[in-house]
Amino acid sequence: MLSPNLVGQAAPYGDEISVSAGSVLLNDGDREAAFYIVLEGYLEVLEREANGAMHSLLLHRDGEFTGSLDLFTDRPNAVTLRADSASRLLRISRAALARLLLAEPPLAGIVLRAFMLRRIGYLRQRPYGGAILRSASSAGKRDPVLDLAVIGGGPAGLSAAAYAASEGLHTLLVGGSMRGAEAPGADALPGFPGTVTGLCDGRLLRRAEDQSQRFGSHVVPVRTACGFDSTCYPYRVWLDDGQVIETRSLIVATGTHDSAPGQTQAEANTEWLEGCLDTDEQGYIHTGRAAAGSMQARPYESSQPGVFAVGAVRAGSAKHVLASIAEGAAAVRVVHRFLDASAH
Ligand SMILES: Cc1cc2nc3c(=O)[nH]c(=O)nc-3n(C[C@H](O)[C@H](O)[C@H](O)COP(=O)(O)OP(=O)(O)OC[C@H]3O[C@@H](n4cnc5c(N)ncnc54)[C@H](O)[C@@H]3O)c2cc1C
Repeated sequence: MLSPNLVGQAAPYGDEISVSAGSVLLNDGDREAAFYIVLEGYLEVLEREANGAMHSLLLHRDGEFTGSLDLFTDRPNAVTLRADSASRLLRISRAALARLLLAEPPLAGIVLRAFMLRRIGYLRQRPYGGAILRSASSAGKRDPVLDLAVIGGGPAGLSAAAYAASEGLHTLLVGGSMRGAEAPGADALPGFPGTVTGLCDGRLLRRAEDQSQRFGSHVVPVRTACGFDSTCYPYRVWLDDGQVIETRSLIVATGTHDSAPGQTQAEANTEWLEGCLDTDEQGYIHTGRAAAGSMQARPYESSQPGVFAVGAVRAGSAKHVLASIAEGAAAVRVVHRFLDASAH
């Protein structure tokens, strides 16, 4: 819920509208066009069941807001949004929402965290028993080969993992910033500097972990990828505790670090890839047609088929949080295409 003060900060970015009871603001399957804050009244979020019947997922009251990560992607939205009573709303378009989130960091932190949690919450409702974020150890025992390994737990990696797992891919998220952010005296989240800190903090990840445990899975551990072997398929990734992951596809979302203390120039966190991918001089990964030797490469795909790069680590990406979330989500679609094609 947003405080009246935060609603006041959002007001200049939108238009106040009044809707009657029963008005449908969004249909499932449509592109989510706007973000709504309830000023007065009730908005109901409904989901269609397999038999066509609608069931209520939640009700937004005064100060609460609608929306999902799909506001940053072109994915069709999965729910219907309907006014449960005559309501007064603040309607904020996609473009205005992007401006708002970049200009109002406290609001951005709350809204983006809620969007992440809503996506992760899908894990509970999807019918995929195996659609979970698994630990490396459980992945090794239960299913030796992953559909997708996502390396890096910043906004790009978390978004990619949340979408992939909720869409049924057997996914492992290897994140560098998981529990460390919760440790007493821990510094600000490493690798996620800037004003929207806290988006991927420990509480969010603990909720993600709870969700995956409900499926009988194990916790997502703090791990760092330290080696990659592209000469075999499925690909192999080494973790810092000596475990080896085998995976059919890989999303690299490891972000950047300062090239030297006090320097403003950043370098990509790609040393662990050991030169397997085409990068620029600072280690940023070339993707799509810019990737060497791969005129056929899909969007976000590196010079190595089935290895994708999203967020700050990708050469030419817009280096901000919203763009990173959108890239993480968009890349999962391309991963599906790769996996489908390679299965035939
Ligand atoms: C000083 C500063 C201020 C900024 N301010 C803003 C702002 O106000 N608004 C805005 O939109 N953007 C801002 N940005 C940019 C924003 O932080 C980045 O664009 C965004 O965080 C990129 O997200 P990402 O997920 O690609 O990478 P990151 O957020 O860098 O996340 C990468 C993650 O991968 C982990 N990792 C690295 N190597 C490995 C490995 N080998 N194995 C496993 N995990 C690994 C890291 O620890 C980290 O958790 C700022 C950036 C900086 C440097």
